[in-house]
Amino acid sequence: MAKYIYLNGDLVAPEDAKVSVFDHGLLYGDGVFEGIRAYNGRVFRLDEHLHRLYDSAHVIRMEIPLAVEEMKQAVVATVRANELRDCYIRLVVSRGPGDLGLDPRKCPRPTIIIIADNIELYPQRYYDEGLHIITCATRRNSPEALDPSIKSLNYLNNIMAKIETIQAGVPEGIMLNSEGYVAEATGDNIFVVQHGTVLAPPVSIGNLAGITAQVTMEILAEMGVPLRVENFRMLTVYTADELFLTGTAAEIIPAVQVDGRRIGDGKPGPLTRAVLERYHELTQSQGTPVYE
Ligand code: PMP
Repeated sequence: MAKYIYLNGDLVAPEDAKVSVFDHGLLYGDGVFEGIRAYNGRVFRLDEHLHRLYDSAHVIRMEIPLAVEEMKQAVVATVRANELRDCYIRLVVSRGPGDLGLDPRKCPRPTIIIIADNIELYPQRYYDEGLHIITCATRRNSPEALDPSIKSLNYLNNIMAKIETIQAGVPEGIMLNSEGYVAEATGDNIFVVQHGTVLAPPVSIGNLAGITAQVTMEILAEMGVPLRVENFRMLTVYTADELFLTGTAAEIIPAVQVDGRRIGDGKPGPLTRAVLERYHELTQSQGTPVYE
């Protein structure tokens, strides 16, 4: 368990890390967040995560009362205070305490929370054998209503889909957009491999611009593997040679069965393994140092 939580500028014991019941993050899911990881004493892709956080805040018209550089120092200080080298970091900025109405102008100061804790990993057999997943009936939020690229505290859409995966007894599920195009998984981005080419859905159809997806695309470019960012439907997934999901917590994880259809030969494919291996190399060798 975490020893210290960053709360509005202070590092406090977990039992003292309390927020108001009038916080609009709690009352309305009004706020933004990031899930970040540190490996080997370095925070991986911290600048990219902070960039996305500040972009999300900008879109919901919330002014984060810290400069990006100060936020970076706060993240590093929180990891250091907890004496962690490999951990998961949850950074939350909520609209802050206000009154019972929706009006964000009643919330003068956002609440900033940084939690650094041990990471709960997917079991190794998921990587060795690949996931069995489903397509969820719950469609991904339409970007016209609430753009999934805002990493907001409003995660009910994903939770509804997650409940379907739990009901089905599988660890993840694919979410389609309202037109039936593959958008993303409940907490991960999605890639398919077909005849040596990798396909990924465009962010604009309604998914989160994942940092791990971005790193994956850099790895594919480095490996000389062609990538096409385009719309596709479930038929493309069912007939793929390989399928993998990407996310900060899951890293790169293969899926080998979707809605009862075997993907490829039913085993994690060579490209998925190669991307994961390179991802591990990068996470072990890059990042913002915590202890130097
Ligand atoms: N999509 C959703 C809905 C997510 O919640 C996440 C993880 N936070 C991702 C994709 C993957 O994003 P990232 O690689 O930045 O963790």
